[in-house]
Amino acid sequence: MADNPFYGIKVKFNGDKKFQTELLHRVDQYFKDSGRSSKDNPLMYLKTCIILALFTGVYILLVFYAVHMWQAITLSMALGFVVAGIGFAIQHDASHNAYSRHMWINKIMAMTMDLIGGSSYIWKWKHVIFHHRYVNITGYDMDIDLGGMGRLSPHQKRRKFFRWQHFYLWILYGLLVLKWHMFDDFKSIITGKIGVHRIPRPKGRDLVILILGKLAFITIAFGIPLFFRPIIPVLFCYTIIVVEMGILMSIIFQLPHCVENSGFPLPEKESRSMKTAWANHQANVTLNFATRNPVLTWFSGGLNFHKEHHLFPTICHINYPALSKIVRKACRDFKIEYKEHSSGWAAIASHYRWLRIMGRKNPRKTATRQGSA
Ligand SMILES: [Zn+2]
Repeated sequence: MADNPFYGIKVKFNGDKKFQTELLHRVDQYFKDSGRSSKDNPLMYLKTCIILALFTGVYILLVFYAVHMWQAITLSMALGFVVAGIGFAIQHDASHNAYSRHMWINKIMAMTMDLIGGSSYIWKWKHVIFHHRYVNITGYDMDIDLGGMGRLSPHQKRRKFFRWQHFYLWILYGLLVLKWHMFDDFKSIITGKIGVHRIPRPKGRDLVILILGKLAFITIAFGIPLFFRPIIPVLFCYTIIVVEMGILMSIIFQLPHCVENSGFPLPEKESRSMKTAWANHQANVTLNFATRNPVLTWFSGGLNFHKEHHLFPTICHINYPALSKIVRKACRDFKIEYKEHSSGWAAIASHYRWLRIMGRKNPRKTATRQGSA
């Protein structure tokens, strides 16, 4: 990947790196002592086979065997779930090069993103680079930028209608994947930008993957179904799948960062540097949720262990539950709060309250507190 062509100057992380250094050392030691591997975990390969087999099975049932409306709705809902699972549990690790030590395996697994309608090339820039490097830094992290439709950070401008955002954003979350399929990737390629960040337009192999990926997706989502079914049922099932994916993806990716106890610190104006070290920042602005729910951990690709994901994005998510014990202890030793929500519902409720606070006219007290977190 080419050098990062930001507008303006890159944000630097200053501050004491003792936590960062010690945490890295402890995690290294864990892998040495346990003999476990940080990538190429057999359970990850098994999980990939299960999810892809489920995808194939449900897709065949829906396209070729569904007769009644209730069957089409049930199978579409199941397919939405499985496709979201491909995004969370396969492509996400691969995009971070956390799936395998072999780059070609990461590249192939990351292409599952192209098959489900997104571009693995754009995802790498938007998520792996801009979100992970600058998480919750307003103006740099594009995941907290809702393009004028809502306010997630106290440093973003408020519009009058945001006072209802804790209601209407849930509906917009449902439309997110539809917008992504139809608009976002194409806009990024045409403009060469993701939000305020400039990105190099894909060339050579990246461009071939992007074009073939879009063609493959259109064939899977519309081409094959339209060959056997009328257009209205095809569009109806597609809508169910993308709305479900949009809600699931928004919930999984918003709950760790856009809640009451997170933080939205800004870099110093002149030096463009943060007061904290990189790892301290990641730990401060990222909350885990429902980590004692093994079904959620399996399905979400460990994204409920989000703190561990942000601290160790290149380690396969199969290892997160074990890493969380090390991170929790290190946080205790360095007097860093290990922020988390015990359940998914508690995290959803907190996201709802955070949206309500950010939509209010003068949430100064909260905003100041969050801004300096
Ligand atoms: Zn990630």
